[in-house]
Amino acid sequence: MTRRWLFGDQLGRHFLDDADQPALIIESRAVFARRRFHRQKAHLVLSAMRHRAAELGDQCTYVRADTYGEALASVRESLTVCHPTTHAALDFVNRLDDVEVLPARGFATSMEDFAAWADGRGGKRLLMEDFYRDGRRRLGILMDGADPSGGVWNFDKENRQPPPRQPTLGIDEPWWPDEDEIDDEVRHDLDRWAADGDVAFIGEDGPRRFAATRREALAALRSFVAERLPGFGAHEDAMLSSDAWMAHSLLSAPLNLGLLDPVEVAHRAEDAYRAGDAPIASVEGFVRQVIGWRDYVWHLYWQQPRSYRRRNELGATTALPRWFAELDHESVDAACLSGVLRDVARHGWVHHIPRLMVLGNYAMQRGWRPAQVTDWFHRSFVDGYDWVMVPNVVGMSQYADGGVMATKPYAGGGAYIDRMSDYCGGCRYDPKVRVGDNACPFTAGYWAFLERNREKLTGNYRLAQPLRGLDRLRDLDALVEQERDRGSRAP
Ligand code: SF4
Repeated sequence: MTRRWLFGDQLGRHFLDDADQPALIIESRAVFARRRFHRQKAHLVLSAMRHRAAELGDQCTYVRADTYGEALASVRESLTVCHPTTHAALDFVNRLDDVEVLPARGFATSMEDFAAWADGRGGKRLLMEDFYRDGRRRLGILMDGADPSGGVWNFDKENRQPPPRQPTLGIDEPWWPDEDEIDDEVRHDLDRWAADGDVAFIGEDGPRRFAATRREALAALRSFVAERLPGFGAHEDAMLSSDAWMAHSLLSAPLNLGLLDPVEVAHRAEDAYRAGDAPIASVEGFVRQVIGWRDYVWHLYWQQPRSYRRRNELGATTALPRWFAELDHESVDAACLSGVLRDVARHGWVHHIPRLMVLGNYAMQRGWRPAQVTDWFHRSFVDGYDWVMVPNVVGMSQYADGGVMATKPYAGGGAYIDRMSDYCGGCRYDPKVRVGDNACPFTAGYWAFLERNREKLTGNYRLAQPLRGLDRLRDLDALVEQERDRGSRAP
């Protein structure tokens, strides 16, 4: 059987055709030397690759080299590889003789099915909601005959509740892995590489929090479905300053390492609903993430032209400031931004709303370059990969694609953060104040963003009301000057 080359995000058993198939895994230090990744992301990826090699034993050739090219020169046999997850890697494998590229694995919808769905829309917008419903029908997930389980497709209203008035959600902490000797070795190597000056990281080292093996990923999935899924939906968009994890699954990391298949994950969640162990709103919200959003983003990455990653429709040209790039939360007074940056520094992970409505929102309000923001998200998050971050950040978070992905910019002021979190009570700023010493940088930044982009956003019917509100602000000139003075300083 032909040897299968496994990239570091193709580590599950479904990337092999047979349990006995010979495998090749290449560990390239140059990948980490080129960019400053979060320390815990580097640890997780290396740990997962080395664990997989250890599991496969003699079946796996594990090559440590500076570059893939150098590693491949030492492998003198034909290879197959599943469709890689980045444009650059796909170009690379396509140029190689003796390497056959197979269809992608690890996603709920194949590229053919996505193309058929997109073609069938007759030029209509590629809406995530429609894609998701099509996937539910095709895969028969959460369906009762032709109808969606629970009678409706979408439980967003039930799933967008503010946080409870308590410091944590009050559920048990997530399942955590136990580190082993492979993690010790990884930590030792990363320390050594950093000491030698070969690589540099951002963020803190810490206990590995995310599954690095199939066995661990299944344990995390089991624990999530049993303990946390029932409470997931209601507060999935809420933030609590003392509870970074809330009821989130933390499964995006093992899913994106290829350790779990999204369809099996969705089936496990559905089983809990069928058994009466989890409410439909929670299960639907989770399934929407796993086979809806995740696959939608993956397919947009391939469907959009390669120039998509460079799009900058709002003309945002400010460089990412150092305090943000370095996760320097202590230099930030704004409680929400400081708290979220602290959690990123500690864990390399926060859930989707702090990413979108605190970090991304702030970056867009300040006009930071979308390509730099994308790169930062990719490097700073344990589950960040090129295919994830290009559409999510360029399109969804920064509105730099001019509305391909989102129908309006995800810009919000302090009122949104105040409603959906407990940050504002402990903040030196006031979410209701837009001008003055205690003016909330998100509230002021929101209006300054609208003012700066007024021309580009006029005509978007979803922004008609906020733009009319802008015209009624008597202190707009003072606000714009205040925010210009703030510039890229930490708020
Ligand atoms: Fe964030 Fe503004 Fe609330 Fe402070 S007042 S926590 S800066 S939204």
